[in-house]
Amino acid sequence: MNFDALREFMVRNQLIPRGIRDERVLRAMKKVPRHLFMPESVRYQAYDDSALSIGEGQTISQPYMVAVMTELLELQGSEKVLEVGTGSGYQAAVLAELVKEVYTIERIELLAQRAEEQFQSLGYTHLHVKTGDGTLGWPEQAPFDRILITAGSPKIPEPLREQLADEGILIAPVGDRFSQQLLRLKKSKDIFSEEYHTPCVFVPLIGRHGWSSDDRDNPQFSY
Ligand code: SAM
Repeated sequence: MNFDALREFMVRNQLIPRGIRDERVLRAMKKVPRHLFMPESVRYQAYDDSALSIGEGQTISQPYMVAVMTELLELQGSEKVLEVGTGSGYQAAVLAELVKEVYTIERIELLAQRAEEQFQSLGYTHLHVKTGDGTLGWPEQAPFDRILITAGSPKIPEPLREQLADEGILIAPVGDRFSQQLLRLKKSKDIFSEEYHTPCVFVPLIGRHGWSSDDRDNPQFSY
């Protein structure tokens, strides 16, 4: 398959008509080989207009959602960014095209390992991965100019608010288990302002300051 052409088509037909304007974001999404972050059996669907399964009950987000979240971060190029929810590693790679340093945390070890291998093979030396509960952040590396949570959360985890730098921006899908809305938090001199953006549906953020894994026993909380 001609993945370069499919990627070009994705940008032209899914991102630009829906209002993505940041040229740097569009360029990054034209460049990053999304198909390489997916299991081989589903690579042919990599540039479809949807989220897709990557195994372990998790998903790679829809290209448009990746673009919206990245644009909302208002990246200039010099930032240090924390992503919570590495998943396939695709969003982190898009961020790595746009900023100085990216730190990403994934709670499922196998996914973190796969993403790490892909980052190495693509030469992203300024992208750092660890396995763990991302709701606790990455205190040794804080503060972060930008924080992006890519799993649905009932609220913004307190440690992540604390690890956001002054004049920083945090984006997260916040809501209930089945539907959320992208929340953009801006921090200025310890005062937070909030704006709600696009409605969305993400897999749950499971951790000390997210959903409890016990919620999985609840029939309302099915994957
Ligand atoms: N950003 C990803 C990508 O580009 O493929 C998509 C992320 S997927 C929608 C959400 C991910 O968040 C899943 O891989 C899930 O295991 C992870 N996750 C959920 N709770 C987490 C937590 N507390 N810490 C770190 N990762 C978490």
